[in-house]
Amino acid sequence: PIAAETAVAETLPDALQNRLQPIGIDIRDLSLSFGATQVLKGIDLKIEPGEFFAFLGPSGSGKSTLLRAIAGFGPTPKGTIALDGQDVVGLAPWKRNVGMVFQNYALWPHMSVARNVAYGLDERRVPKRESVARVNAALELVGMRQYADRYPSQLSGGQQQRVALARTIVVEPRVLLLDEPLSNLDANLRVQMRQDLLKLQRRLGITTIFVTHDQEEANTICDRIAVMADGVVQQIGKPDDVYDNPANSFVANFLGTAN
Ligand code: ADP
Ligand code: MG
Repeated sequence: PIAAETAVAETLPDALQNRLQPIGIDIRDLSLSFGATQVLKGIDLKIEPGEFFAFLGPSGSGKSTLLRAIAGFGPTPKGTIALDGQDVVGLAPWKRNVGMVFQNYALWPHMSVARNVAYGLDERRVPKRESVARVNAALELVGMRQYADRYPSQLSGGQQQRVALARTIVVEPRVLLLDEPLSNLDANLRVQMRQDLLKLQRRLGITTIFVTHDQEEANTICDRIAVMADGVVQQIGKPDDVYDNPANSFVANFLGTAN
């Protein structure tokens, strides 16, 4: 089990409360191709400010491509992605103020935990005193403050994941994007980390999109889910509503509610 000292903080530390604002995401008629292959096919999706939202679907359905398009990575899509009312299609990733956590964490192996987390603040030339306060706050939030001087190789997979979350949160993104963040963890830890992710999201209050192929994961922690298949959103709703009333046979089969 996770030791008590690595629990998510009960309240959001002061140093992180400056710019965190829940914003809405409005995606309209979004299509994206890799060369001749169309991967996203007219996605319409409205996510409310502060929602914990899931893209749920089988491998290859386009979840990561859609998430990356929101962050500004990959080919430029057709259609619009409005963040807080502003269309960001074509805008460079760093101008979007969107935070993304990758499946493999991508921590710098030669940097301590604290320096990994400070990296994005250094890039933004945040003054040292403020940077230290924010790094400490982010590490405290994810329950990793006592590991500030360790190196990634000295941490477990779950701890590395926490550091990756801290590193993304510390720059106070408008939106938090999580691409299968638990899939590299062993089964027990994955279940524990679900609850911590939910706590973290509620403390931060920022709009969060969680990508997963695991329906149980999506259903236990997300406010609403979009079920995707083959580059199309099949259904959007609260987990229970989608379960009780699958829109089509694909959704019913995928959720295992077909009879
Ligand atoms: P998911 O995250 O749901 O598993 P992806 O968004 O990764 O799905 O992929 C959707 C489709 O797009 C797949 O058919 C995949 O092969 C294709 N795809 C993803 N990235 C690329 C790429 N860089 N070049 C070509 N095709 C890609
Ligand atoms: Mg993916």
